[in-house]
Amino acid sequence: MGKVAVGATVVCSAAACAVAVLLLRRRMRRWASAKAVLKELEEQCAAPIPKLRQIADAMTVEMHAGLASEGGSKLKMLISYVDNLPTGDEKGLFYALDLGGTNFRVLRVQLGGKERRVVKQEYEEVSIPQNLMVGSSGELFDFIAAELAKFVASEGEDFHLPEGRQRELGFTFSFPVKQTSIASGTLIKWTKGFSVDGTVGEDVVAELTKAMERQGLDMKVTALVNDTIGTLAGGRYDDSDVIAAVILGTGTNAAYVERAHAIPKWHGLLPKSGEMVINMEWGNFKSSHLPMTEYDQALDLESLNPGEQIYEKLISGMYLGEILRRVLLRMAEEASLFGDTVPPKLRVPFKLRTPVMSAMHHDASPDLKIVGTKLKEVFGIPTSLKTRKMVVEICDIITKRGARLAAAGIYGILKKLGRDTIANDCVAKRTVIAMDGGLYEHYNIFSDCVRSTLREMLGEEASASVVIKLSNDGSGIGAALLAASHSQYHEVEES
Ligand code: ADP
Ligand code: MG
Repeated sequence: MGKVAVGATVVCSAAACAVAVLLLRRRMRRWASAKAVLKELEEQCAAPIPKLRQIADAMTVEMHAGLASEGGSKLKMLISYVDNLPTGDEKGLFYALDLGGTNFRVLRVQLGGKERRVVKQEYEEVSIPQNLMVGSSGELFDFIAAELAKFVASEGEDFHLPEGRQRELGFTFSFPVKQTSIASGTLIKWTKGFSVDGTVGEDVVAELTKAMERQGLDMKVTALVNDTIGTLAGGRYDDSDVIAAVILGTGTNAAYVERAHAIPKWHGLLPKSGEMVINMEWGNFKSSHLPMTEYDQALDLESLNPGEQIYEKLISGMYLGEILRRVLLRMAEEASLFGDTVPPKLRVPFKLRTPVMSAMHHDASPDLKIVGTKLKEVFGIPTSLKTRKMVVEICDIITKRGARLAAAGIYGILKKLGRDTIANDCVAKRTVIAMDGGLYEHYNIFSDCVRSTLREMLGEEASASVVIKLSNDGSGIGAALLAASHSQYHEVEES
C-alpha cells in the first residue's frame, strides 16, 4: 500500500471513529435523559406508608363529611336504602338485570334457604346495539324488556314460582342515580358512552316497569342497586363477615355497611336492622396528599370530566395504560426512546389499554419478548432490550402507585368502622371485603400489591383477621338476593 493510501485509510477510520464517538455520546445523553424522566416519575409517584396513612385519614374525614350533609364532601356517600342484606334464608325464584356497560345480563336464580342455598341459576348476556346507546329512552328500555321477556319465556321446570305471585327482579343499574327508596331512583346523568334521550331526571324503575308492561311482562322491580351494592350483597350471602365491597375494574368504587346512628343526614329514620349500606362513589375522592404527576394533570385536563374522579384516574383500569402512554410519549420526545422520530401512534389518546400494559408487566421471558411484541403491535416500533426494560419499570411505578392508593382507601373504610386495630382485650372480628372487577382479577401484580400494602398498613396482628375475597361477578346474584330480601311477600312469609 502506498503512503497516500495508508494516509487516507487513517484519516477515514479516524473520521469513522469520531462519528461513532459522537453517536455513542448522543445515545448516552439520550439514555441519561430517559433515566432522569424515570427518576422524576418514581419520586412523584412515591406512596410510602406515612403518606398512605395521611390519605386514609383524609378518606375517613371525607366519609364523615359526606355522611353529615348532602354535598358536604367530594364523596357523595349515597344512602342505598339497603338495610336488609341477604342472610342465607332467602327462598324462591328471583330475577336480576344488570345494566352498566356495553353488555347487559339477565339472570334467574332458585333460592332454597339456609339448607339448599342456590338450587339453580341461569344467565344470559346480551350486547346492546350501538344505536340504542345514543337513541331514545323508550327504545332502549323496550329492547331490554323484550330481551328479559324472552329470557323469562325460556324458564324451565327447575324454577318454581308459587301460584298467584308476581316474578320479582333486582335491577343493577350502574350509572349515577339519586335513590329515593329501595326500588326507585332518578338518573342523574348517563356515563360510559351512553347518551340516551329522555331518562335524566326520570325514575329508572318506572321507565323499566312501563317497558315491561308494553311487553306484556308481569314483573316487579323490588330492588334498585349499582354494581358495588350488588357485590356487597352477593358477598354477604357467601360470607356473613363481609362488611364492604370494592370494585376495581374500568372504574373504581366502594360500598360498606354503616351503623345507622353514624349517618346524620339520614334524618332519624332509623332502619330496623340499625345498619345501612352506603355507596361511597369513592372514585371522586381527592386530596392534596395524593401523589400526582404532570401526566395525571394533563390526563385530567384533557378528559371528559376535568377535576372529577381524580382518585379513579390514578387507580382504575380505564386510565393506567393511558398514564403509561403519556410517560412513554415524553420519553420519545425528549429522550428519543423509540428512535429519532416519535411514533405517531404514541400520540393517540387511550391507544395503550391496561390489559396490554398488564401483559407487558408480567412478561417473565429473559429478553422481554412479550413487551417487544406488544410495543410493535400497538405503536409499530421495534425496541431494544434496554428500552423494553425501561417500559417495564414504568409499568411498575404506575401500577404500584395505583394499587397502594386503593389499599389506602380500603384502610380508610376499616378505620372508619374501627376495624383497623385490635383493642388489647378484644378478640379480633373477622372482616371480609368483597372485591370485583377485571383489573383486580387479572392484573396480578396490581392485586398482590393491594393485599401486601393493606397488610403493611394494618400490621401483622390486625391483618390476620382481614380478608379480601374475590367475588367473581357477585353483583348479578347479589341483585337477585336483594330482590328476595326486599320482596313484597317478605312480611307475609315472616308472619
Ligand atoms: P367493568 O368495570 O366495566 O364493569 P370489569 O370489571 O370486567 O368491567 O373490568 C374490565 C376492566 O378491567 C377493563 O376495562 C380493564 O381496564 C381491566 N382489565 C381487564 N382485563 C385485564 C387484564 N388482563 N389486565 C389488566 N386489566 C384488565
Ligand atoms: Mg363490572
